[in-house]
Amino acid sequence: MDQYEMMTETPEETGAFAEKLAQYLQPGDVITLEGDLGAGKTTFTKGLAKGLGVMKTVNSPTFTIIKEYKGRLPFYHMDVYRLDDSFEDLGFEEYFEGEGVTVVEWAHLIKDQLPGELLNLSIYREGDTSRRIVLKPYGQRYNELCKEIVS
Ligand code: ADP
Ligand code: MG
Repeated sequence: MDQYEMMTETPEETGAFAEKLAQYLQPGDVITLEGDLGAGKTTFTKGLAKGLGVMKTVNSPTFTIIKEYKGRLPFYHMDVYRLDDSFEDLGFEEYFEGEGVTVVEWAHLIKDQLPGELLNLSIYREGDTSRRIVLKPYGQRYNELCKEIVS
C-alpha cells in the first residue's frame, strides 16, 4: 500500500492543506483521522469544512458524536472519542454511504464499522507547531487523490 507524508509548521498550514484536499472530495468520501489529543485533528477538520463551503463554525462535537453541516456537499463530523461502546449502532453506515463527506476523529475506535475504502490520516506532533501528516489511501480513488495533493 502506498503511503504519503507531509509536514506542516503552523495550524494555518494544516488548515490550508485540508482546505485544498476538500476541493477534490466527492459525495460518499470518508476521511479518518488519528492522532493524540492536541495533534490537530479538529484543526484539520475545520479547514476541510471551510474548503467544503461550510459557513458555520465547526467545533469538536464533545457530547454529540455526530454533527451535520451544510456546504457544497453535506459535511458529517464525527468524534467517536467518547463513544462508550464501540459496537453501539448510531447508523454510521448511512453517513458513510450518504451524499456527504464524512470525517471521523479517533476512527480506530469504530474500525469494524468503517467502509473498506477511505482515506486515513495520522497526525504526529514533531515539535511545538510542527506536525507530520501521514496519508494512507485505501482504494484506488484515494490513492490518486493523494498523488494529486501531496507534492
Ligand atoms: P485534536 O483534535 O487532534 O485533539 P486540535 O486540532 O483540537 O487537536 O488541537 C491542535 C492544537 O495544536 C491547536 O491548539 C492548534 O492551534 C495547535 N497546533 C500547533 N501547530 C499545529 C499544526 N502545525 N497543525 C495543527 N495544529 C497545530
Ligand atoms: Mg479533536
